[in-house]
Amino acid sequence: MNADLLVIGGGLHGLSAALQSARRGVSVILVERHFLGRHASGATAAGVRTLGRDPAELPLSLEAAKTWHKMNALVGDDCGFIACGQLQVAEDEVALAKIQARVRGLEAKGFTHEKIIGRIEMRELVPDLSPHCLGGAWVAGDGSADPHRTIIAFRDAALRAGVKVVEQCLLTGLQRRASRWIAETSAGVIEAGTVVNAGGAWADRVAELAGEPVRQSIRTSMMVVTERTQARVKPVVSSLGRKLSFKQTAQGTMVIGGGSQGRLASDRQSASVDFVALAASVGAAVRLFPALKGLRIVRTWAGMEAMTEDHLPVIGFSRKATGLIHAFGFSGHGFQLVPSVGRVVADLVCEGQTNLDLGAFDVERLAKERAVA
Ligand SMILES: Cc1cc2nc3c(=O)[nH]c(=O)nc-3n(C[C@H](O)[C@H](O)[C@H](O)COP(=O)(O)OP(=O)(O)OC[C@H]3O[C@@H](n4cnc5c(N)ncnc54)[C@H](O)[C@@H]3O)c2cc1C
Repeated sequence: MNADLLVIGGGLHGLSAALQSARRGVSVILVERHFLGRHASGATAAGVRTLGRDPAELPLSLEAAKTWHKMNALVGDDCGFIACGQLQVAEDEVALAKIQARVRGLEAKGFTHEKIIGRIEMRELVPDLSPHCLGGAWVAGDGSADPHRTIIAFRDAALRAGVKVVEQCLLTGLQRRASRWIAETSAGVIEAGTVVNAGGAWADRVAELAGEPVRQSIRTSMMVVTERTQARVKPVVSSLGRKLSFKQTAQGTMVIGGGSQGRLASDRQSASVDFVALAASVGAAVRLFPALKGLRIVRTWAGMEAMTEDHLPVIGFSRKATGLIHAFGFSGHGFQLVPSVGRVVADLVCEGQTNLDLGAFDVERLAKERAVA
């Protein structure tokens, strides 16, 4: 097999980069070890959030936010996106002061997407929120999407654009010979001029195969779905300082997540639910939203994804190997960024440069040699 571009990883970031590169006339093969969306992209809470982002991510995140509002134009489906807003509440004065300082700091840098709201406005948004919540930050244009619809929409759009998708295909070797990559996979040898590493929790292994070892760990975030309830929560709600976010689906179930961690299997290939940690997370949700009390849990799971030391992703060219582009390390908040990161990676593939400053996402900050030096 032979292509201009080989994408490793059939999560949403691999699919988005493949789609947007193929649309610009590049021939693309995408390989996925399992099936498309098997890992983080299929396990995600699918929150579409500019709220509370690291300022370094905001140019990418604000660009992505615009695309989420017209997702049909990119993939022919709205991906179940609903602009229900995202609310971050402060449960005490210290948290409120931190939120206020953050929003003022953002405004000083020219970012006006987050708004401070007080008790009354907050209670209009979520009437059943516990009375101890003092106020918070609100982004009306944020929301959430349907992860599985999103995967299907990106897959179908990629296939229509001519991407060749090979599932059940594990990359096992990568060598640069002359101006080509020779990739050994469980489905045979693939030759390509450029490789995109979108390997999620295993992107460090892909980088190592290409001769660029990086420091990266694995997050195992857990999710809970309850039975249906008549309680009404429109926005996605989180609380500053807690590993907690929750929302209600159109069907009435409550979806609780926010980063509480499960257990990673020793071979680093799967993760299971840690019920003690899960109980703490659900308890925090009940404190914030007492109407949750007594609801039965119908489903839980833990999803795996790459985490970096500074919780910022790695996006950009390899510092060690020609023709290798990284897009991994989204550290629990990469779903929202899928459209813009795919656009930026396609720029790098097709033009060798992009208009956004990728300095904060440089792979060099995680180079393994640095830790030793
Ligand atoms: C429980 C949970 C909740 C989340 N909630 C949110 C949220 O609300 N909002 C938000 O913005 N983000 C959220 N995220 C994060 C977001 O889902 C991820 O950042 C995003 O899905 C990462 O996509 P990806 O394509 O990089 O990784 P993945 O979807 O994990 O895809 C990587 C793929 O690469 C494949 N692969 C790896 N190595 C190889 C190899 N050698 N050969 C072939 N294939 C390989 C893997 O099998 C995998 O399918 C959440 C994540 C989790 C787990």
